[in-house]
Amino acid sequence: MTAKKPMPGDLEPIETASRDEICALQLQRLKWTLNHAYHNVPHHRKTFDAKGVHPDDLKTLADLAMFPFMTKNDLRDEYPFGLLAVPRNQVARLHASSGTTGKSIVVGYTLKDIDHWSNLVARSIRAAGGRAGDMVHVAYGYGMFTGGLGAHYGAERLGCTVVPMSGGQTEKQAQQIIDFQPQIIMVTPSYSLVIAEEFERLGIKPEDISLKVGIFGAEPWGEGMRAEIERKLGLDAIDIYGLTEVMGPGVASECIESKDGPVVWEDHFYPEIIDPNTGEVLPDGSDGELVFTSLTKEAFPVVRYRTRDLTRLLPPTSRAFRRMGKITGRTDDMLIVRGVNMFPTQIEEQILRDKRLSGNYQVQLSREGHLDDVEVRCEVQRELSGKLTASDIDAIAKELQHHIKTNVGVSTHVKVLPFDSIPRTLTGKAKRVIDERPPQV
Ligand code: ADP
Repeated sequence: MTAKKPMPGDLEPIETASRDEICALQLQRLKWTLNHAYHNVPHHRKTFDAKGVHPDDLKTLADLAMFPFMTKNDLRDEYPFGLLAVPRNQVARLHASSGTTGKSIVVGYTLKDIDHWSNLVARSIRAAGGRAGDMVHVAYGYGMFTGGLGAHYGAERLGCTVVPMSGGQTEKQAQQIIDFQPQIIMVTPSYSLVIAEEFERLGIKPEDISLKVGIFGAEPWGEGMRAEIERKLGLDAIDIYGLTEVMGPGVASECIESKDGPVVWEDHFYPEIIDPNTGEVLPDGSDGELVFTSLTKEAFPVVRYRTRDLTRLLPPTSRAFRRMGKITGRTDDMLIVRGVNMFPTQIEEQILRDKRLSGNYQVQLSREGHLDDVEVRCEVQRELSGKLTASDIDAIAKELQHHIKTNVGVSTHVKVLPFDSIPRTLTGKAKRVIDERPPQV
């Protein structure tokens, strides 16, 4: 790996531009997007007209608040091609959402869109410390999911050697990393731990693994998980964020020199945080739902797309653009347990406070009569397997139960299991929650 800190000439001029320059560019591009959407997509014309707004009404960035939101339901209703703003024969590629929630949706890209996307992922890898000539092992799934191909094109654009491994075949993943000696891995955080376990099984120490940087996204992961992954793989773990509807990975990405939340690539995406209940735009720093308007997308422009991801916007640090905090969860991931709202990531945070526990866990919800029951299943680390007494295990469970009750506010039953008891997700996103509660009537 080359230097982590950006060297003169590494950064694009816009990454160090003034706020005024960024806002001017955003306003100009926002006007273009609104016009493009309004004049080429009947759905957008209909929703703008219904709200009594026209693209010409946008005089300042704040005026965007007058425009209607887009939701995943719009993508479902217009499935497959109703939201395309260019003729289908100008679409160079289609991708679909991985379908974590509900019916699948499809998006399209022109060649220019793919060019921008590749540049943004290249910028993201560079922000993570990667440089031309580095080798990048891509273990995100290839196919309709945006992860694999998104990472691949970006790494190629930066001038890296790409290993298009995709997900699964864990033994082969590890063997190839040993043989090829890549410096960078791009993968979901949950699957990175499965690969780490394979290295443990082979008796390879973290300091002997060639990887220096991991670029992780596609699912929520907290600071505890970052520490766990860094310790087990001996690398710097960097957060990349994105979603199919808005582009794919590389909408925002973290800088290795600060590791303080993904930088939103604001020259291509205009972010807002709204109150998920009222739709009101909230000031930077407030917690709420992240909303994006694309600024350069040709085939599939999005206007005020409600991501359902909960986070906040933070001031710029390592780059001129604003950052986003780590995603706490999605509005539709939120579990309401006996009236208390909670996210799986909050449970994860408490589990990973205990270094004896691994990052693999599951939360199972059931209902006895009218009362919700929450069982938290976690595992001891491999090196402790078989070494703990029943009373040690009992003490770990009691302590975790107490931490969850005090910090998350929910009473749970904690089961501390032997290493490798919880099924691993080898491709796609980890399934952390099993909700067996019958629907409320
Ligand atoms: P879906 O999961 O909706 O089927 P995608 O594969 O496009 O579709 O996933 C996008 C979603 O993944 C985001 O909306 C967000 O919830 C989650 N996600 C992506 N990157 C991150 C990240 N770095 N941190 C937390 N969540 C992320």
